[in-house]
Amino acid sequence: SIEPAARMTGLPTQFFAKLVAKANQQIAAGHDVINLGQGNPDRPTPPHIVKALQEAAENPQYHRYPPFNGYLFLKEAVAHRYKEDYGVDLDPEKEVAILFGGKTGLVEIAQCLLNPGDVCLVPDPGYPDYWSGVALSGARMAFMPLRESNAFLPDYGSLSQDDVNRAKLMFINYPNNPTGATAPASFYEETIAFAAKHNIVVASDFAYGAIGFEGQRPISFLQLPGAKEVGVEFYTLSKTYNMAGWRVGFAIGNAEIIRLINLIQDHYYCSLFGGIQVAAATALTGPQDCVNELVGVYASRREALYGALDRIGWHAGRSRGSFFTWLPVPKGYTSESLSDLLLEQAKIVVAPGVGFGENGEGYVRLGLLTSESRLQEAVDRVAKLGLF
Ligand code: PLP
Repeated sequence: SIEPAARMTGLPTQFFAKLVAKANQQIAAGHDVINLGQGNPDRPTPPHIVKALQEAAENPQYHRYPPFNGYLFLKEAVAHRYKEDYGVDLDPEKEVAILFGGKTGLVEIAQCLLNPGDVCLVPDPGYPDYWSGVALSGARMAFMPLRESNAFLPDYGSLSQDDVNRAKLMFINYPNNPTGATAPASFYEETIAFAAKHNIVVASDFAYGAIGFEGQRPISFLQLPGAKEVGVEFYTLSKTYNMAGWRVGFAIGNAEIIRLINLIQDHYYCSLFGGIQVAAATALTGPQDCVNELVGVYASRREALYGALDRIGWHAGRSRGSFFTWLPVPKGYTSESLSDLLLEQAKIVVAPGVGFGENGEGYVRLGLLTSESRLQEAVDRVAKLGLF
């Protein structure tokens, strides 16, 4: 019989895999399912980026092994983007690591820094992939509740002293998945001071960095003084350039952490296919109108969705960034019973809040990942259930 290693017991089945399987059952049964559950961008990658890949694929230079840790031209493109967008200076050779999407880096940083018995501070609700690296390291998670009453920001003063003393790593994520909250500069200042005082590494997940609403451009953690001394930021091209299937992202910031991430990657992979690296560099250095256009699309969908929800009496606080909306569950339901009901009776997939942690109970997450007319159709179907 096959005996898995002990570390595997901490790894649950991917939460979204379960959600997708449930939706697929309904689709297979012939239903017209509106999937607002998984954070999978629905629009295509901009054509100039696809073209860059096609051209690079013709070039035999990229048929060979890429350099370990990726091509310098891509790291330079990352540094260029951060300088342009955030005024942040990065040394492309020492302060940038190329990743297979943001996800791999989030798991690797935990493996790089945590020993069994260490603590990692994790937002609750939060993106479930933060849990994976911690589980593989044999470390323990201490959850930082994100409450609507505190604008979905953690309250460092309320954490247990023992957890804080044992913590070696913490994750923060704004614009936030799942709540759609953004963070002010003062929050990052407080985080940097807290991390420096307690010697905790900060992993800032900026996957939705490009997506802010009401004229607001989300702030990068690296814009704040002292950030590079205490941590790194993770970024992905998945959302900003509709490149989720391409699996490309990067980590930037503290040179020693970047060195460790690159070292662990040396043992898992060589690097991404060169053609993908060329396309990613094209995305980062080319015209950014596609990004502004995308944010405009999400902004219109957001308006349409909140407008339709208000009309049926499903009132919710407005998201400030990301492409998620975080809606309170009506009385008499849990996040799971509501999402089951919506799937079975309205053929709508939403993510139950409890999948993001205990504090996610009482909410469901809807993605702005289909057209305005389909979002309206989804709300019309909800209206027929007479829940509000
Ligand atoms: N971080 C957050 C908060 C996310 O929601 C996602 C993707 O859904 C990621 C990171 C990772 O994205 P990827 O692995 O596609 O780069």
